[in-house]
Amino acid sequence: MDTNDLGFNSKLIHGGGFKDPLGSATVPIYQTSTFRFDSADHGAACFSGESNGYIYTRIGNPTISALEAQVALLEKGFGGIATSSGMGAVNTIYFTLLGEGAHVVSSAAVYGPSRVVLEQQYSRFGVKASFVNTANIEEIRNAIRPETKLLYIETPSNPTIDITDLRACCELAHQHGIPVAIDNTFCSPYLQRPIEMGADIVLHSMTKFINGHADIVAGMIVAKDEAMYKKLRANMVNIGFNMDPHQAYLVIRGLKTLGIRIERAQANAIKIADYLENHPKVEWVRFPGLKSHPQYELACKQMDGPGCMISFELKGGLKAGKVLMDNVKLAVLAVSLGGVETLIQHPASMTHSKVSAEGKEKAGITDGLVRFSVGIEDLSDIMHDLDQALAKI
Ligand SMILES: *Cc1c(COP(=O)(O)O)cnc(C)c1O
Repeated sequence: MDTNDLGFNSKLIHGGGFKDPLGSATVPIYQTSTFRFDSADHGAACFSGESNGYIYTRIGNPTISALEAQVALLEKGFGGIATSSGMGAVNTIYFTLLGEGAHVVSSAAVYGPSRVVLEQQYSRFGVKASFVNTANIEEIRNAIRPETKLLYIETPSNPTIDITDLRACCELAHQHGIPVAIDNTFCSPYLQRPIEMGADIVLHSMTKFINGHADIVAGMIVAKDEAMYKKLRANMVNIGFNMDPHQAYLVIRGLKTLGIRIERAQANAIKIADYLENHPKVEWVRFPGLKSHPQYELACKQMDGPGCMISFELKGGLKAGKVLMDNVKLAVLAVSLGGVETLIQHPASMTHSKVSAEGKEKAGITDGLVRFSVGIEDLSDIMHDLDQALAKI
């Protein structure tokens, strides 16, 4: 059976082509650090690449390979590279593409550590970074320099939910011979497949939607072509950003339900966004499924659905935010996203409490901003929870 021809949900169950030699119906955990060679010649062939036999788990492992093949299939790339965390994926990409004197153009509203590591660590090796609003293509065009080696984009952005036009960005970058990497964590391949729109590299924090059960930290890179895949893989292996087989097993298990989890959470999110938009204590709501989103048309064009992440601004700023956080009963007060449970977060009093007023303004963090990762609970329970907590403000 060629799993390439299957629909997305069938690929989640059967994709990747793993076939256990002992007939296990699911992918077993190959909990081993090393692999036995049949002979000196076999060992030599494994090292030379003549044989694709396994050598050592940091380099490759059957459980991890099964997951890599499956996510690569979903993202329509050449191959997957599993990493210990999302940041392991980010750093493998930076380390591979950014040498001495290199310049990167990045979305300003990227995941915090993806920016911090460029500013505080790669800068020590002469790497320069421009952080721009990639939702405005002109800002990217103006930031590109002769030494630009990477365009790095996150869309929708966090927590501002701005949408970057992936097709336009890839076209612009490729005119300058610059590879494009997309952090696709917020959408997962169920809602957005950047390689189809021209991206060279896709990465995930699989901690979020792909695993979906908030019980593991993991990352993945998918490269569009073989040359890029080989370069990235070599660095992942040599730095030691590799995944563990048990971690891979859990992600494979979580991945099977990606489609039904997102469908349900997204259906909840659409109703909740509408409810919030009409609530007297809410100033505004940012959700790609609302016609009021400034890039509603673009979201419809490049995403297969609006997703499960809602940002909204409370009237009453910091104080209102804290009251809401202290009064929700069902929603879990926690960072992260993309799990089966609804999570709520107030950046001004939590993740960004130590950021300067200017820094918060630049990142689009207002005092009443709330980020809501909608889970798969019953809609009536999530609504009731929000309703009673909003009433306390
Ligand atoms: C969480 C996250 C990361 C980092 O992933 P970890 O698995 O926590 O290392 C990167 N990008 C985005 C968009 C994230 O949400």
